[in-house]
Amino acid sequence: MKPRLLCPGPTPVPEETLLELARPVTFHRSAQFRSVLGSVVADLQQVFCTKNPICVLTSSGTGGMEAALTNVIRPGTKILCCISGRWGERWKNIAKAFGAIVIEVTCPYGEANTPAQLAKALAEHPDAAVVTATLSETSTGVRNDIKGLGAVVKDTKAVFIVDAISGLGVMECRTDDWNIDFCVTGSQKALMLPAGLAFVAVSDKGWKRVDEVLTQGPACSFYFDLRKYRENLKNNDTPFTPANTLIKALSHSLARLKTEGMEKVWQRHERMAAAARAAATGLNLKLFARVNPTAGLTVYEIPSGMDGSVLLGRLEKEHGIRIAGGQDTMKGKIIRLAHMGYIDFFEVLAAVSALEMVLADLGHKVESGAGVAAAQRAFSSWKAGA
Ligand SMILES: *Cc1c(COP(=O)(O)O)cnc(C)c1O
Repeated sequence: MKPRLLCPGPTPVPEETLLELARPVTFHRSAQFRSVLGSVVADLQQVFCTKNPICVLTSSGTGGMEAALTNVIRPGTKILCCISGRWGERWKNIAKAFGAIVIEVTCPYGEANTPAQLAKALAEHPDAAVVTATLSETSTGVRNDIKGLGAVVKDTKAVFIVDAISGLGVMECRTDDWNIDFCVTGSQKALMLPAGLAFVAVSDKGWKRVDEVLTQGPACSFYFDLRKYRENLKNNDTPFTPANTLIKALSHSLARLKTEGMEKVWQRHERMAAAARAAATGLNLKLFARVNPTAGLTVYEIPSGMDGSVLLGRLEKEHGIRIAGGQDTMKGKIIRLAHMGYIDFFEVLAAVSALEMVLADLGHKVESGAGVAAAQRAFSSWKAGA
């Protein structure tokens, strides 16, 4: 059976990137490597829509989040965390681990944080030095209005930090225009690589905060001290041994994005997402995020009474389709079908088709082909900007 990976990370890796990963390991302190890193950062700037430097870290995505936070907080710093799911909660947990005072700006799971609610919280806490948010809340399938949230933070003294880990390279994310001071992503989502790299784009306002915090006492982190990355980046270098094999492979995945162009990349994902959402009616399933769905994955509710682990297990065992379940409190309540990066529309159709079969077999009322047909119709009639 052919395994098909449709999870929101890690995601499938294109052939030319895999071939690069198969090549012999090379030394990283070399002119060749510096040239690769220089061009990778330049290509990443297009993906991030930023002119600012991008720190390339050897870690999973959470390392990038920790890097952003530890460079702007000290014990006692007040931070506002916009929370719409488990990933928003991760910001809170990192901040607490380093002794920050966290003010939670929450909304129910399945909904998005609003600029109005953030504006109210900022008015109540004018001493907040940091605001965090999540572009694509992968745990619930919600898209947050980063542009709107950024506009609220812009004229305050706070820096705006965004987890764009499953959203960047999927949907519109304009780091500079949207006033994002620290934009974080990881390698194993839309960037079509294995896990192992994290990226943090830092604005001038962000760097000012970093330099200011470090005058107040010792750094919170040694490995993630972003000043070291900024300094080394001037020579297209890194302070520590980089995952140079992954960085070379990244140049191939980025070439795909560059050739397609970011606007087209965003449209491709929006179109697949529209099709995956339309499939819900045919599958006779409810969408979990009804109002502001993300474009990187679609979250369906598991019909009441059905065992979600049986459903997911059978999809994989009988059809080779690996999709994700819910995390923590959402376990057994939802399934999460990813359509980002190298996952294409026909894999989404395959997953919908397999879902129809297994759901029907588990006694769910679903007509054979109805989900696939609905997805096809939505895909065919999709128009950019409609
Ligand atoms: C996948 C994901 C992360 C992942 O972090 P890792 O440390 O790479 O596991 C963080 N935030 C979001 C929104 C994600 O989708």
